[in-house]
Amino acid sequence: MKEIPAYIDLPSPLQNCIKYVWIVFCQHYDLKPTFNTKREGLKISLSEDADLQVSRKFSSIIRNKRFKHKNVFPNQPLLLCENGKPDYLGTCFYLLNYLQEYNDPDLVTDEYGRFPFKASYQAKFENVESDLVSDYFRKIAESISAGFIKDRKTASRVFLSHDVDTITSSLLHEGKAALVQKDFPLVMQVILKHILEGPSYLNQMDRIMDIHDKQGFKSTFFWLVERGRRKSPYTNKPVPHSDYRIQKKRIIKKQYKILRRGFENGLHKSVMKKPFNEELDRIDLPVIGNRNHYLFVRLPHHFNAVEKSDILLDFSLGFGRMYGHRNSYGRPIIPFNMSKYKAYSFLEVPLQIMDTTFKFYHKLPAKKAEKSIIDFLENHRYNSLISILWHNDMFSPIKNPGWLRLYKTILDYLRQNKIRSITQKELLEEREKQLTSFRSNFL
Ligand SMILES: [Zn+2]
Repeated sequence: MKEIPAYIDLPSPLQNCIKYVWIVFCQHYDLKPTFNTKREGLKISLSEDADLQVSRKFSSIIRNKRFKHKNVFPNQPLLLCENGKPDYLGTCFYLLNYLQEYNDPDLVTDEYGRFPFKASYQAKFENVESDLVSDYFRKIAESISAGFIKDRKTASRVFLSHDVDTITSSLLHEGKAALVQKDFPLVMQVILKHILEGPSYLNQMDRIMDIHDKQGFKSTFFWLVERGRRKSPYTNKPVPHSDYRIQKKRIIKKQYKILRRGFENGLHKSVMKKPFNEELDRIDLPVIGNRNHYLFVRLPHHFNAVEKSDILLDFSLGFGRMYGHRNSYGRPIIPFNMSKYKAYSFLEVPLQIMDTTFKFYHKLPAKKAEKSIIDFLENHRYNSLISILWHNDMFSPIKNPGWLRLYKTILDYLRQNKIRSITQKELLEEREKQLTSFRSNFL
């Protein structure tokens, strides 16, 4: 493993922030992060003669915890030093850690109490599809002119998953869909099947796994433990949760079957303020991954809550109303703890594509969504980890035939482009690697 020894000369707590982002940069290019205590090697500091200059503006943002993107990025999504040089390290630190979402007392949230896409710098600069961090890392690599840093082209990987919000509603959903089509034999068939075989959304999970297996993919099912309408502590309004009982025998049986077939399970955390472990305890089998229901996330609260729990992998960070990158980076990272000034210990795996963004928020037919999704995948064929969420009910050939077809088209595209799926097990190894790197550098 190659290395570029760096000498970072910055006041605390800036030192740790920049050390962190330098380690992420090294991981990005498969370099071994090494640090010099003597004034030798690549110099990173606030001064003009540094090899990589950090801006005083970044220093003041960190010291004063003033994270609003309107102050940070008034004209472009890039911090500049006082002499006009770009501050790529400071910028990447800010982007990677979702700092625009931190501590904003004036933030107007959306109807679920979430950080809304329209309030983001991605909306302002229309760059939600861009992996800005990778672009800036490339600029850093070029500017320190270490010829051996190469952008290797390796096929991207994909994390496929299904939030399980509904099971027993399949009778109502599919019955209604058949009625609308005036297909009365189908209505009868839906009712009979439900009586004889149980909810089709549960049985369908075997078909979901078949579809993946046929193309050599694996996926994860995220389960809700809270049922019915639950009041959100953030908006005081009720939010629908699941329509099934997590401890029911047939649910538990299905979860073990998922496991036996090499697929995986995770927690779909409720919007309630309950600790993660309380919900984890209600799932029969061991679970280490989570995605929040409604992608409900408030930062830094969410990160601190995950850190306190047994969750090792979190998949919650995507915009509900928009596809693309919520932290402008197309790979999983361990975020930085802004009160302890060191890395957390869980891996944050970004979410870029979700079915409901197109269907409910943009009200698009599947055919129209297909273009945006395939274009996005096309632009991220290499060096990225793309995560795709397709709810279990979207696989219903009666209620959502177009969306089922679209998902199959996506899998075809992935297979043809040699993009293979990554499991939670493999992501754990990634977490271990990153964690070792931070820990061995006292972060
Ligand atoms: Zn959900």
